[in-house]
Formats: sequence, structure tokens, C-alpha cells
Amino acid sequence: MPEVDLDHLENRLLEERKQTLDRIRQAESEESEGQRMAAGELSRIPLHLGDAASDTQESEKDAAVISRGTRRLNLIDSALRLIRDDPVKYRTCEECGRAIADARLDLIPWARRCASCVSNNPAGPDRVA
Ligand SMILES: [Zn+2]
Repeated sequence: MPEVDLDHLENRLLEERKQTLDRIRQAESEESEGQRMAAGELSRIPLHLGDAASDTQESEKDAAVISRGTRRLNLIDSALRLIRDDPVKYRTCEECGRAIADARLDLIPWARRCASCVSNNPAGPDRVA
């Protein structure tokens, strides 16, 4: 099987990095919007209690997006450093030392472990969700 080239993987990382940043920024602006509303600006007080409840849920969701996104951003950044400094190590599972499949790296370019190590221990730091 031909190797997926590093430029492609680096582009995938940059792409994922941009998308993750966009999601975080969007969630952050929605969250601060929610905080302004919670602070009780008269013009923004929801007319119905139902609206207030859904705002709270929304802002919890935003907080989750932000914390997940920040974690992913760290993984992406260290993968970007690794792919430039030590491409061989980048392609190597940090748990068992075998090569990480190209298809997996294409899908999850920040992956640090091979598919079989992840299925043995799904709670690792590089899990997708
Ligand atoms: Zn492994």
C-alpha cells in the first residue's frame, strides 16, 4: 500500500485545526451572548420561561464544545509539531510501536495510537469523541 504523503496529512491537520478553531470561536461567542442574557440586560430577558431553560442548555453545550475543542486543538498542535520534527514517530503508535494505518491517519490525523490499541483502551487521550 502506498504511503499517504506527509504533505497531505499536514494539510489534513491544518484543515482540522481551522475547523476546530471555528467551532470554538462560534461556541465562545454564543456563550458570551448567553452570559449577557443571564446578567439580565432588560431588552434581552426572554419572554417565556421555556426560552430561559433552552438558553441554559445551549450554554452548557457551548461549554462542552469549547472544552472538547481545546483538547483537540492541543492534540492537533502536537501532531503538527511531530509531523515536522519526526515524521517516522508521527506514523508510529506510541503504545505498541507499530505503524498507524494510513487510512486511520487520514481520518484522524492527530491520532497517536493505532486502531487496535485504541480498541483495547478506548479512553485514551486521542479518542475521537
Ligand atoms: Zn498500537
